[in-house]
Amino acid sequence: MKILVAVKRVIDYNVQVRVKEDGTGVVTDNVKMSTNPPDDNAVEEAVKIKESGKAKEIVAVTVGEEKAQETVRKALAVGADRGIHIKVDGIIEPLAVSKILQKIVEKEKPDLVFMGKQAIDDDCNQTGQMLSALLNWPQATFASKIEVKENKLEIIREVDEGLETIEVNVPAVVTCDLRLNEPRYASLPNIMKAKKKPIEQINASDLGVDTKQRIEQIKVEEPPKRKAGIKVANVAELVQKLKNEAKVI
Ligand code: AMP
Repeated sequence: MKILVAVKRVIDYNVQVRVKEDGTGVVTDNVKMSTNPPDDNAVEEAVKIKESGKAKEIVAVTVGEEKAQETVRKALAVGADRGIHIKVDGIIEPLAVSKILQKIVEKEKPDLVFMGKQAIDDDCNQTGQMLSALLNWPQATFASKIEVKENKLEIIREVDEGLETIEVNVPAVVTCDLRLNEPRYASLPNIMKAKKKPIEQINASDLGVDTKQRIEQIKVEEPPKRKAGIKVANVAELVQKLKNEAKVI
């Protein structure tokens, strides 16, 4: 089995994101960037499946500017075999990413595509779903447990009501939840070895995909500051305030 894993470079989740003064976006200059957290879970799961003998090859793919390669390099350091970097400058929307990934799937013919459930920069939660529609493959989103069976996957997914267990036929697109596993750290020797693993670079324009923006971002603003909380003396006072001041009960 061959697994393609999509990894996106985003602002590190520990960074306090700041809005640009002119409201055109958020500050990214000199800001720490990392792999989108659930994408690390997607890589980890692929590596575990390979270690169990059920997969032969893991290919990590990213779409983005030159520096996006760092995310592929990190995936190579924790066990992916080779990488693909689709080079594109500027903002790239989920629809364009899914069309690009569709081309890569047609070229690479993987059995599975693993992705994160959501990117923490745009919070779209769309790319995996759109890719599965474009490929006409089954999808399993928000996976928190994956079991590989013959030509099938049994997946436990996190839904609003709790946990849902489904079976999907392979090939399939799976988007991974943070609770799926504990991503490993890359050891120094593996980081060194990863430098020798190949990363193929392809210009998005050579794939014949229309990557033009369809969403116009009008303004980015800080969320309103939260008011300080108050302490209440007892339950009666809490109920009175919820009723008369907050008017929520
Ligand atoms: P989103 O739909 O933007 O919330 O992203 C969901 C998932 O799609 C991410 O967790 C990644 O696995 C994948 N993805 C989105 N954008 C990219 C990108 N530019 N390069 C690689 N993978 C991406």
